[in-house]
Amino acid sequence: MIGPKEVLQQLWTSPQLHQEDTIRAGAGLCEPEAVKFLVENAPAAIQSLLEMGVEFDSHTGKLAMTLEAAHSRPRVLHAADTTGRAIISVLTAKVLERPNIQVLSQAFALNLWLNRSTGHCQGISLLYQGKISWIAARAVILATGGGGQVFAQTTNPTVSTGDGVAIAFRGGALLRDLEFVQFHPTALSKPGAPRFLISEAVRGEGAHLVDEKGHRFAFDYHPAGELAPRDVVSRAIFNHLQKTANTCVYLDLRPIPAQRISYRFPNIIQVCQQWGINVFQERIPVTPAAHYWMGGILTDTANRTSIPGLYAIGETASTGVHGANRLASNSLLECLVYAAQFSQIELLEYPHLTAPPRERKEQETANLDHEIEQILALRQQLPTLMWQSAGICRHQGVLEQAIAQVSSWRSQLAEFTVTHYLNKLVKFTYINYSHEELRICAETLNLVDVAYLILRSAAFRTESRGGHYRTDYPKTDPHWQCHTVVNNNNLHMAWAL
Ligand SMILES: Cc1cc2nc3c(=O)[nH]c(=O)nc-3n(C[C@H](O)[C@H](O)[C@H](O)COP(=O)(O)OP(=O)(O)OC[C@H]3O[C@@H](n4cnc5c(N)ncnc54)[C@H](O)[C@@H]3O)c2cc1C
Repeated sequence: MIGPKEVLQQLWTSPQLHQEDTIRAGAGLCEPEAVKFLVENAPAAIQSLLEMGVEFDSHTGKLAMTLEAAHSRPRVLHAADTTGRAIISVLTAKVLERPNIQVLSQAFALNLWLNRSTGHCQGISLLYQGKISWIAARAVILATGGGGQVFAQTTNPTVSTGDGVAIAFRGGALLRDLEFVQFHPTALSKPGAPRFLISEAVRGEGAHLVDEKGHRFAFDYHPAGELAPRDVVSRAIFNHLQKTANTCVYLDLRPIPAQRISYRFPNIIQVCQQWGINVFQERIPVTPAAHYWMGGILTDTANRTSIPGLYAIGETASTGVHGANRLASNSLLECLVYAAQFSQIELLEYPHLTAPPRERKEQETANLDHEIEQILALRQQLPTLMWQSAGICRHQGVLEQAIAQVSSWRSQLAEFTVTHYLNKLVKFTYINYSHEELRICAETLNLVDVAYLILRSAAFRTESRGGHYRTDYPKTDPHWQCHTVVNNNNLHMAWAL
């Protein structure tokens, strides 16, 4: 049993180095205050997880720590290779135990309810059990995760459709650094299989990244080879695949002792087995995929957005911790450290609620089949367009063509009755569509907004930095050592906020 004092001592060994690694990975765009806040509060956040019962791996009475890309020392805690699951299952059980928390399972957030006179956020509209309603709240916290589904190749789950960013955008909140997307170098590449993530820790433990011929090509692109920052390794793979005209490269786990593979990566072994790959005997085919969105809703260290009463946390937020490129494993830590701030939330008083926007029209029923069909088709086309135009390598001309296409889709969708319905501009006495169908429509509308914002931000930043690489501007430009801020439909360069 590891005592709390030993844990804190162990975790406190390197906040300064952790800060330096985070800032180095962030390529000049980390907010120093946000990073300092992260690293200094990390030990206490981890300690509270241990106290709640999360079981991280340990070795000879100490927490086991692994090395991941761009970390100067092993410091990443893990629970085999399902760390997120280990944390979430404990936290979910805690939430369900609390009688003062009401969980509306499968409820889907649609739009902010803003006070027309003060601009405060006073609630949200929800799609719940197929119906749309307004819920008043003294504080609204957007915690909707990333937006990887906007790209055809992604490690993200299907729910990662960037909803928080789209909701905040429609409400007029400031957004930041949306062009910065981290492409993970090693997602499983097997026909029919999802882009299952083969964790960085595999390379940290000694796996080799090789091409068809067994050559460790990553060293041809960067002296740190397969342990270079993610964007460098992803681009190395992208360029190497173009050069060699192959469709994937390989991760070879065989340099790691078999016993160590079994102990550290049971989930990877199992998933690969499902797809016919025995990791002890053969190499895993991999390609890069969109993994983490550094940009998001602009927040401060108390998770406040630019709209009073509206907060954001996790991947949907831009706290300034990740800059232009996230240091591996800082995202779960950011969720924990920043979420703890909600214990000190200052609840805003609102004298009285202004009425939610009223439906302008009332109709008996609607036939939305044709619109829903078009939306489903768009859901397929959009991610391919985004992967080709705003993926690992970007170029002005290609970005502009994509902006024109996505703008035309947005205008078309804005006229749809289903859009008016989801935005509560029109009401039906009876609606013949399931919760699921309406949710997919709402997510697709969000994805189109998210695509538009990423494309515009990527076209705006005429340099390469962190997760944003431009073939027409391959160098980092000191004039661009600033954030991109979206304010309604306008983009600005912002040095300090
Ligand atoms: C495969 C994979 C492995 C990763 N491994 C690591 C790792 O080892 N270490 C690390 O630090 N980070 C890792 N990350 C990144 C990290 O998991 C995410 O950044 C983190 O989970 C984000 O947490 P979140 O709470 O912001 O969002 P999520 O965990 O994505 O949760 C968002 C929730 O919001 C819900 N939601 C979305 N839209 C709506 C809506 N409109 N209405 C209502 N609910 C909505 C979703 O259903 C979901 O439940 C990994 C990511 C992936 C995809």
